[in-house]
Amino acid sequence: MHILLLKEPRDGESGPDPYIKELASHGHKATLIPVLSFKFVSLNTLSDKLFQPEKHGGLIFTSPRAVEAVKMCLEAEERREEWNSSVKDKWNTKPIYVVGKATAALVQSLGLNPLGEDTGTADVLSRLIIEREDKNIPPLFFPCGSIKREVLPTALRENGVPLETLTVYQTAEHPDLEKNLKNYFTEQGAPASIAFFSPSGVRFCLEVVQRLSGEQLTQIKFAAIGPTTQDEMKAEGLCVSCTAEKPTAEHLAAAIAKALQYGFIKPVNWEEIQFEDSDASFNDDFLDDLHDTIQEGTSVHHSRDAPQDGEHDDHNSLTESQAFISALKEFQTLSGLPATGVFDEATKAVMNKPRCGVPDKEINLDTPVAPENSSASDTENSFSDAFNETDSNNTISDSSFGTANSSVDDIFNVNDTESVSNDTSMNYTDLNLIDHVVNNTSLNSSREIKTDSQMVNGSMNAHQSEAVRRRKRHLATLVSKSRHKRDLSETGYMAFSKQMLKWRLIGEGYSSQLSIEDQRYIFRLAFRMWSEVSPLEFVEDTRSPLEDVDIRLGFGTGRHLGCNQRFDGTGQEFAHAWFLGDIHFDDDEHFTAPNAGSGISLLKVAVHEIGHVLGLPHSYRAGSIMQPSYLPQESGFEMDWMDRKAIQHLYGGCNGQFNTAFDWIRKEKTPYGEVVIRFNTYFLRDGWYWLYENRNNRTRYGDPVALQVGWRGIPMDGVDAYVHVWSRKRDAVYFFKGAQFWRYDNENDQVFRQDPEGHRYPRLISEGFPGVFSPIDTAFYDRRDSRIYFFKNTLVYAFDVEANSLARGFPKNIRVFFPPVVSGDHPDGNIDAAYFSYTHNAIFLLKGTRFWQVVGSRDRWRRPFLPRNGLLPHKEVDQHWFDICNVHPTALKLTR
Ligand SMILES: [Zn+2]
Ligand SMILES: [Zn+2]
Repeated sequence: MHILLLKEPRDGESGPDPYIKELASHGHKATLIPVLSFKFVSLNTLSDKLFQPEKHGGLIFTSPRAVEAVKMCLEAEERREEWNSSVKDKWNTKPIYVVGKATAALVQSLGLNPLGEDTGTADVLSRLIIEREDKNIPPLFFPCGSIKREVLPTALRENGVPLETLTVYQTAEHPDLEKNLKNYFTEQGAPASIAFFSPSGVRFCLEVVQRLSGEQLTQIKFAAIGPTTQDEMKAEGLCVSCTAEKPTAEHLAAAIAKALQYGFIKPVNWEEIQFEDSDASFNDDFLDDLHDTIQEGTSVHHSRDAPQDGEHDDHNSLTESQAFISALKEFQTLSGLPATGVFDEATKAVMNKPRCGVPDKEINLDTPVAPENSSASDTENSFSDAFNETDSNNTISDSSFGTANSSVDDIFNVNDTESVSNDTSMNYTDLNLIDHVVNNTSLNSSREIKTDSQMVNGSMNAHQSEAVRRRKRHLATLVSKSRHKRDLSETGYMAFSKQMLKWRLIGEGYSSQLSIEDQRYIFRLAFRMWSEVSPLEFVEDTRSPLEDVDIRLGFGTGRHLGCNQRFDGTGQEFAHAWFLGDIHFDDDEHFTAPNAGSGISLLKVAVHEIGHVLGLPHSYRAGSIMQPSYLPQESGFEMDWMDRKAIQHLYGGCNGQFNTAFDWIRKEKTPYGEVVIRFNTYFLRDGWYWLYENRNNRTRYGDPVALQVGWRGIPMDGVDAYVHVWSRKRDAVYFFKGAQFWRYDNENDQVFRQDPEGHRYPRLISEGFPGVFSPIDTAFYDRRDSRIYFFKNTLVYAFDVEANSLARGFPKNIRVFFPPVVSGDHPDGNIDAAYFSYTHNAIFLLKGTRFWQVVGSRDRWRRPFLPRNGLLPHKEVDQHWFDICNVHPTALKLTR
């Protein structure tokens, strides 16, 4: 297919453009049209400065084009000679800072020795400069482009490093842009996909592209190279089909190929994506995308024997494609198409009316719902909707998890349902039946049923409209139209109305294949997995009368456990479950323990069946644990993002207060021997902690973990604060609790009993930090001013680490130092946690289930009226950080 890339050709390199090459490998024909033109300016001034090295403390280059400007100044022969004979050596006595490898290579070609080529971003480079430079040097000279990137100048200015900037090139619209676009559309017609590489590219091209494509506009898949560009596209009203996960030819080509193949692509979470070395071909705007700081480390799986990251990914993608094919076949069967598993035109026609893949538009729930048998022609119907569609005119063929061969009438006979007035004959698969039961209130049991609307009202306040919107959005993609309908008619979803649920493996129903301990262990794990992603907690109850147990599990063969459904022997049906009720497993199946590598994973089947008990219907979405077909066992499988959102739609997100939250920073060596700075984010509550994966915006698979597993020697029941003093002279990690503090030995991963300075731990806070009164509420270290900020009641104490004393004027009232931006919206005092996030490059104050973001220099640069250190209006923690969910203490130490 034809793809239009709105970018400049890659300069200085031979051979085809990497983007064209990469797209060709996916079978697509790509064409470049340059969008921007560059004009060098002020070259005389630049030349003067270059030949006065003694007036400057060093040089900074953050783009290859700026180095090109220098080259232009050296074109005249006598200048070149003077440069080579003496000037370059004078510069080489000073630091020549560069942001990436491409710039470094060009700088070397001038005879200069670059420094910082591994920094990758302006932010990291500025930190390197601040580390190395004094306030008393002559100014560093920074030739740059006209599109301002304030990261580096702001950081240097704030830290008092003198800087002199000079604009040496200007960016403007390419003079032939419109002509080139016209020619392209005339010759090729509208392309299948158009990729933008910069916000200015969007601004310069959009109007012409819209005009030229006319009615075909909605057919074009628009792709973005990165989040800034994506945002600009959205702001201009374009529907973004995909965004490259990283700004490389490989990532962009993969995203476009997927968008073209499937019509949509999973939205990338842009709150946290890190970039590698900046690419020489990216223009200035793109560097805006590179604002990020240090890299988030990968999260090592803690306690469960999940595969290593690399393997894991391969495995996932493999499984995903198998899962995709299997889901596709299901969809084809349901749609009356030949079940080929091939995504052909007929299938596409059924599922694919073009629609935006990025879920950024709310589905209007007031829109009348289309007739349920019209899934092929419904305008709302998109690929993702279709996959979640449970067309109630068809019986879902639950070929392996559920009840494949039984006819609906046999099992779900409505009269039976009513006559059996207890809860035993309601099966999850038939949504009509659930409807029916709700509407007739024939569920005469002790089970508590709660409607969705109650839950939404109960768990959200008006000010949480963002969360409501988000949930509605998920609702739109998660549920079928028949469920929309119920939602509208206020019959709602059903879910347990309590958060603590009891379960038991019933004695007459043990499996003959696994030891009883193994069975119970596997069920504990299965419940824990739902607990990890929802506010529900599960506890095994072996004592209460059976009727008080919420979920009873048992194995049986043929006629079993007094159940009115027979099992069918080996194959086909593995298990069945009742909504808000019990689970039976067919013991004629070969159930195995996790990671057994053969048989049917009891864990996986149990997680699926528990999903039904909790209220989830089948999903035909690839990767979902709620797919009706059993997929061969993967070790380390987990709830994917949509499963998490589905259960949270029923039960709400997870909230609760934290003792502390922090980014743990350390230096790591890459396989190539480069030292990089990485961090991971941790949230601590009582004796547990979660590793937060910012790039996925969720907690690590398998968390929470007991505190002492991750941090050896700190108080087991929790800490008040974590502080990492990280300056040129010091690198020390402290935990605080009560009146004491501990220094942590990162190298040996345990607290110091005695540190290299001879201090023994625990020490008294009053000794280590004179002037600070213990116990403290929380604390954080601010690298920008080398101070630790301690919070206690309504006061904040700034402790100057270098001077080893309180900073002048402290303690201050928190309200004075962190004034509210909106009057009255302030935590006042008793802060739980103060967290400097490298992902967000911002400080957050957390209290209870809320947080306040502190206004940063960038906010103030954009909106100068904001007060310094002002607290932005509060939000709920679970609106910003997802899946930080408690598990029942009895399940805490389970490992998989
Ligand atoms: Zn049964
Ligand atoms: Zn099922």
